[in-house]
Amino acid sequence: MSGFWKRLVTFILLIAVTGILFATLGAVTTLACYLIALLLLVMHYRHQLTALEKWLQGKKSTLPDSSGQWGDVFARLVRLMRDQRQSYQQINVALERLQRATSAMPEGVVIMDEIDRIEWCNPVAEKHLGINSALDAGQHITHLVRQTQFTEYLTAGNYNEPLIIKQPRHQGLTLSLQFVPYGDKQKLLISRDVTRLERVQTMRRDFVANVSHELRTPLTVIGGFLETLAEEGSSDPETRKWVLTLMTDQTKRMQRLVEDLLTLSRLEDTENLARETNINIPEMLRELYHEAQSLSMGHHRISLNLDSDATLLGSMDELRSAFGNLVSNAIRYTADGGEISLNWVIRDGQGVFTVQDSGIGIDPEHIPRLTERFYRVDRGRSRETGGTGLGLAIVKHVLTCHQAKLVIVSKPGKGSSFSAHFPAIRLIMQKSE
Ligand code: ADP
Repeated sequence: MSGFWKRLVTFILLIAVTGILFATLGAVTTLACYLIALLLLVMHYRHQLTALEKWLQGKKSTLPDSSGQWGDVFARLVRLMRDQRQSYQQINVALERLQRATSAMPEGVVIMDEIDRIEWCNPVAEKHLGINSALDAGQHITHLVRQTQFTEYLTAGNYNEPLIIKQPRHQGLTLSLQFVPYGDKQKLLISRDVTRLERVQTMRRDFVANVSHELRTPLTVIGGFLETLAEEGSSDPETRKWVLTLMTDQTKRMQRLVEDLLTLSRLEDTENLARETNINIPEMLRELYHEAQSLSMGHHRISLNLDSDATLLGSMDELRSAFGNLVSNAIRYTADGGEISLNWVIRDGQGVFTVQDSGIGIDPEHIPRLTERFYRVDRGRSRETGGTGLGLAIVKHVLTCHQAKLVIVSKPGKGSSFSAHFPAIRLIMQKSE
């Protein structure tokens, strides 16, 4: 029976009962009966309301069993609460999954409210920006990232391009920061570690500046000489000869620089790996020894010590270029009468090639930087002796490609030793050893 019919039947029954009571008991008794019934009803409602209140406050775990309208209301309430609890649990699970996913991101993520206060951030952002997600929630972002550029970027409101800043709390950390607006004026702050990228860009800029600088000097000299030659009266054969000799020197200098640059670029070309063969190092060193003698033109005492017949698995051209650079440096940085030795030994299972000289030596502070491109201790001396500033950079690169290490030991005024240490896996021992 539907609610309407139920109510209609109840109403008709009530009128019928009232009529019978009026007829049999009289008006006063009937009214008294109705008053008592009303009082009982109010008490019942109060009881149910108290039970409901206690249940809502969490003081009671279940609602009383009721029938009728109260039963309907209670059942509906219980269903509503259960549905709510379920969707709350689902939201919690989704939120947890979202937080876990955001935490796994390689970028830092900060969720901010509409007035730029921190709501939540992932561990990467904590590391990048020095924020503590639990302690700093509710803080304005500019109270924690205090650089002026950052505040200006935030207030300018143009977030198409990221802001690149150096993070003072972590030395050497460069960050790319970008706001992503979402929802109702809320923002995400995304941080990326671009330290390596920045370093590469700086290196590239420095490299182009260095190469330009290295080429400008000989070009200026050649330009000047060409002007001299073009002038009238400079056709004196002696002057012409002198000018042409100097121009040839400068051209050779540029050639050496270009050759070294090409060698470096070949070494960096990872797609075009050099062919590796079994190299007879003693034979290569004998050739280098003869070359060193002709380069020195008898100005130095040069010796060759071959303690091992071991051969080496590697690239012939690359190793020859690296060893040649070490030998030519020893000649160029050792005064006339000095001693130079070329040595090949097996030490602690490693193949060690050493060039030892009794030359000018190097101050310890310069040693860590010697393999940087264009780093020179004495610019004048390097140029005078035909240096490009790229020799040791080439050596380092070649050795790295061969899993070898460069060890430099030097004392100013006493001399230097440059050793290349090759790992045992690259050595092929001869039967006699
Ligand atoms: P360069 O063409 O200037 O010689 P390198 O890269 O070969 O460039 O060497 C870098 C610097 O290291 C040189 O400018 C020089 O100051 C120093 N150096 C290299 N080899 C020696 C050595 N045997 N004795 C003293 N200084 C050296």
